[in-house]
Amino acid sequence: MRGAGPERQFADILGRFAPPLAPWSRCTACNGLLCAVRKTEVEPVLQPGTRRTYDAFARCGSCQKVYWRGAHFGRLDAIVQAALLATGAP
Ligand SMILES: [Zn+2]
Repeated sequence: MRGAGPERQFADILGRFAPPLAPWSRCTACNGLLCAVRKTEVEPVLQPGTRRTYDAFARCGSCQKVYWRGAHFGRLDAIVQAALLATGAP
C-alpha cells in the first residue's frame, strides 16, 4: 500500500485497480443489495425527525436496514463523484 492516510490509500486503489463502482447500491452493514422503497413501507421504523424530513428511502434486501440521503450525504457524494472521475466511470 502506497501513501499514508486513508484518502491517499483510496486514491491509490482506484488508480491501480480501477474497480467497477456501483455507489449507493450495497448495504454498509452486510453488503446486501439495496432496493428503493416507498416511504409508507419504512415509516414505522423511522425516527420522527427522519419521517418529517425525508421522502426517498432504500432498504437492504438482506438485513432490512433502511437508508436515506441524510445530512452527511453531500460530503459522501463528493467522495463518490471524485472516485467515479478517478476510475473514468461514465
Ligand atoms: Zn444489510
